[in-house]
Amino acid sequence: MLKPTRATVVGGSIGGLTAALLLHDLGCDVEVYERSGSALDARGAGIAVLDATVRYFVDRGITDPAEICSSTQSIRYLWPDGSVRYEAGHHYRFSSWNTIYRALLACFDDDRYHLGREMVSFRTRGDEVEVGFADGDTRRCDLLVCADGINSLGRESLYPGTSPVYSGYVAYRGTVPERDLSPATFAGLRDAITYQVIPDSHILVYPIPGPDGEVEPGHRLMNFVWYRNVADGAPLDRLLAGRDGTPRRVSLPPGAMADEAIDEMRALADRALAPPIAEVVTTVAEPFAQAVFDIEVPGMAADQVAILGDAAFAVRPHAAAGTAKAADDAWQLAEQLAAWSHDVPEALRSWEQTQLALGRDLLQRCRDIGERSQFRNSWDPGDPALIFGLYGPGN
Ligand SMILES: Cc1cc2nc3c(=O)[nH]c(=O)nc-3n(C[C@H](O)[C@H](O)[C@H](O)COP(=O)(O)OP(=O)(O)OC[C@H]3O[C@@H](n4cnc5c(N)ncnc54)[C@H](O)[C@@H]3O)c2cc1C
Repeated sequence: MLKPTRATVVGGSIGGLTAALLLHDLGCDVEVYERSGSALDARGAGIAVLDATVRYFVDRGITDPAEICSSTQSIRYLWPDGSVRYEAGHHYRFSSWNTIYRALLACFDDDRYHLGREMVSFRTRGDEVEVGFADGDTRRCDLLVCADGINSLGRESLYPGTSPVYSGYVAYRGTVPERDLSPATFAGLRDAITYQVIPDSHILVYPIPGPDGEVEPGHRLMNFVWYRNVADGAPLDRLLAGRDGTPRRVSLPPGAMADEAIDEMRALADRALAPPIAEVVTTVAEPFAQAVFDIEVPGMAADQVAILGDAAFAVRPHAAAGTAKAADDAWQLAEQLAAWSHDVPEALRSWEQTQLALGRDLLQRCRDIGERSQFRNSWDPGDPALIFGLYGPGN
């Protein structure tokens, strides 16, 4: 019998875990190495969930998405006085990064998921890749999958200089238990994704599962994402440095935002946002922030090395497709590996073609939506282009 393909997956988040599960199911000998020293937790807040993100659970008959996602039945836009500006029936699913991560991790072998292991180098030697870790250890494999996120070492090594490009805006985010909202606000927000557009900005609010995965209305969290322009340089550095003054490049975790930034955000919410949306923003105890970047790569594979998910293309969140793209990269990778009978370089060459096209298309679509909201003020609530989707709006 042929020896199984040895696969090393670097980055144990949604993209890396999906890839690891699919490669394992294909008969590969898979190990996952995650830099973070403790089980990833509380990473971000809510996410809109497209089919690819939960495809593993559905395809393998593991979990009904309804058990790990909340859902809404309409898209609603409010005017500043709280009256309805636009409403249309549309079904969306939402979850939290934690809920999806925990569900994926539960499907994977604990002994093959290594925390506190940071890849610091890799090099191709013949038809093997030798991966080096910060602790001095090395591992040889036939396939290295770099699912190592926005500051990917895999990307920087294969395509030096393809750095994240700051979009000019930041997402302020946070969650509040539904039970902490007033009855009127809970009733107004519980069944919809609720938007408000204000000059050079927009905000969206939607329910996500509770801290222990609760999906029943009343037991969930209400999540907000508010896109606000912050100039590059000192203003962005100051925001991300937070209360402890730590220099940060991408995000400011819950509990770290400076009091002045929280006060400014709450004051603007009270002045400019519709009452139910303002109540969510001002009730959140520990808001956090993530700078929004574009990353575009010229390629996604070389010999035995693939880069996927945010490591390859990081797109602005306006199609809510980041985790779906990472998962789709993983599904297509497994399909090509099977189609090429585990000939890794051939499989990666085919895979790269389709996934590059997908990444470029999504990047462009999300960049356009973001520019229209934040800089051109040309959002039309009824525009079908604004519907979430991976392959196209609503798809
Ligand atoms: C404001 C905002 C809103 C968003 N909303 C949505 C949404 O609604 N729906 C959606 O689907 N997506 C959304 N996204 C995008 C989504 O969060 C990302 O696309 C997704 O998390 C990417 O997954 P990933 O596995 O590729 O990378 P990541 O989740 O970034 O994971 C990378 C992992 O690699 C690890 N790592 C990094 N370097 C190393 C190393 N050298 N060695 C070992 N491990 C390493 C990291 O610790 C991390 O765990 C949003 C993003 C933002 C900023």
